[in-house]
Amino acid sequence: MAIAGPLVDVVKCNGEPRNHNGLAMYAKDPQGYGAPILLTGDADYAAVPRAQSLNLGGLVASHHGGRMRHPSVPRATTTGLERVVYSYGPGNSYNHAFPQTRQNHHNGGWTMSLDTGSNATPRPSHAAIGWEPLPLGIGCPDCDLQIAQT
Ligand SMILES: [Zn+2]
Repeated sequence: MAIAGPLVDVVKCNGEPRNHNGLAMYAKDPQGYGAPILLTGDADYAAVPRAQSLNLGGLVASHHGGRMRHPSVPRATTTGLERVVYSYGPGNSYNHAFPQTRQNHHNGGWTMSLDTGSNATPRPSHAAIGWEPLPLGIGCPDCDLQIAQT
């Protein structure tokens, strides 16, 4: 199953129940030039249709950057804007994101990353990635959280 739209494609993951058979989303560049950005939820990359065959402009690490069952990660573009986001809450009891998971992504070409959590502050942040450089130092228009970006 897949739902294809002008800005997003939603795909059904094909892994085993619980974490690996939900929905994943490819966000698409509205200008039509940039490579898609993949949000997998908790699914392993191997369970996400097309995740291993596309070059991606951005990636939200599977399962908050938790332990990976397979070390391979999707391919990153080399535009200089590609980022992997580790989305987790600061101080989470699972210790997301795992150092080995970060290393796996780095080894796979995701050399630049953003985190929504930090052990240095109890407050989370948003993370901004996209197809064009964004203005720096902006906050969220909807709440008082900062937006991690670089
Ligand atoms: Zn906000």
